[in-house]
Amino acid sequence: MMIDGHTRVLGLLGDPVEHTLSPVIHNELCRKYGMNGVYVPFHTRKGDLKEAVFGAYAMNILGLNVTVPHKNEVIQYLADIDEGAAAIGAVNTLVRTDGGFVGYNTDMMGLSREVDYYGIELKDKCAVILGAGGAARAVAFMCMNKGAKTVYILNRTLEKAQKIADDMNSHFGREGMKAMRLCDYMSLCEVKPEEGYVVFQSTSIGLSPNVDDVVIEDESFYDLVSVGVDLIYMPYETRFMRLCRKAGKAAYNGLRMLLYQGIVAYELWNDVRVDDKLAESIYGSLERAVRKNVVLIGFMGSGKSTVGRALAKKLDFDFVDMDEYIENMEGCSVSEIFSKNGEEYFRELETVAIEELSRMSSHTVIATGGGAPMRTENAQLMKKTGRVIYLRTTPAEVVRRLSGDTGRPLLAGGDVQSRVSELMEQRSLRYESAADDIIDVTGVSVGDIMAKIQEVLENGREQ
Ligand code: NDP
Repeated sequence: MMIDGHTRVLGLLGDPVEHTLSPVIHNELCRKYGMNGVYVPFHTRKGDLKEAVFGAYAMNILGLNVTVPHKNEVIQYLADIDEGAAAIGAVNTLVRTDGGFVGYNTDMMGLSREVDYYGIELKDKCAVILGAGGAARAVAFMCMNKGAKTVYILNRTLEKAQKIADDMNSHFGREGMKAMRLCDYMSLCEVKPEEGYVVFQSTSIGLSPNVDDVVIEDESFYDLVSVGVDLIYMPYETRFMRLCRKAGKAAYNGLRMLLYQGIVAYELWNDVRVDDKLAESIYGSLERAVRKNVVLIGFMGSGKSTVGRALAKKLDFDFVDMDEYIENMEGCSVSEIFSKNGEEYFRELETVAIEELSRMSSHTVIATGGGAPMRTENAQLMKKTGRVIYLRTTPAEVVRRLSGDTGRPLLAGGDVQSRVSELMEQRSLRYESAADDIIDVTGVSVGDIMAKIQEVLENGREQ
């Protein structure tokens, strides 16, 4: 982007800010709207907040997000506060006005949009909130605002849960919220509604790197759940979500909450309405940033499995070879699947495998089968799953690498040289359009290919 005298600055005040995904949302929105603007995280320590807020206003900064640990303290430095944010008692978005910054809570609005997106009904339903920190206050407000019949807020420290329940009951003028100790969760059985509880996991337990932790271990609790929403989005699938799913319930992470809180903030700063198509494209970028999967595509013999295995080891990621994954699904080899059921059946299995991997995997290097990106559906799923990297090679190199390999059904019978050339001609344009990055691998060592992949993962597009 071009920074000049007209560039407007948006930003984030917090401590820490190093791992924030907000720049992904806002810088993409600035680009898409052709706005001459840039979003910058500002590492702001506790004692420096007042100077940061007034300094930002003095420097004509257009808008700010505010994150941990400043969401409450910031309120005293504002010209005004939105009614919902005041009731929640936390502000995460500052909007510039003539008299100073006005504070909003777009976390609550973001979660509300996520709940609508997944079709989760709260009106006249019973909800459970696990945790009573800053985020739980926004969840509590949203549940009450959407007309939940009863909301149980469970926390390790009962007083904090009680304070939220008292504040919300007083704001909404009804006794809809009840506070409980976290360890008393099984008493929810006694009042369990027939359809179960909508459960919001809003503690910090399970947050990366402690990905195997969960606030309630007891599997019988998850029988009480109708749908689970974990505010955490890193990891992409938390243990809380896995336990909900194991009990046969739907479960979602907080990535859409993050997306929509950012979108609402951008809308407030710029007086625009972000359409759903753009929102979904940004969601794709966020998903990929969180999941970090790498999907290797390319012709057979281009080194996808060898490079993929070595790369996974280097990055400390999992490795999945899609052909092996399908062989495990079917209990026989790829050659046997081809000879017994034909190519079309195998392609169907590839779609099932990619669909599964796109749903479940994170921090994984996936080596795909050579023909997998030929289906448009598969190519789309791959983009959703992770960064798609095409290992491009030449027909001569493929023939050299595959000499003596008899396990490739598509090369069986006939002249290998002409079969490889013909298939590569059919496939190369498809590979190119399915890829985020293209790396030429002919004559390049595995170590050097990995170095190139790591470079594109860190720096963006190679093409
Ligand atoms: P806070 O630090 O304010 O609250 C943490 C909560 O977790 C408290 O209720 C605390 O209980 C509870 N907790 C912490 N450790 C334990 C433990 N060992 N056992 C039981 N309970 C525990 O955090 P926030 O409310 O700001 O954030 C909560 C989560 O929500 C975070 O994981 C954050 O990433 C996520 N979040 C997601 C957003 C999104 O856009 N998706 C937006 C904002 C937050 P106690 O009161 O007893 O200490």
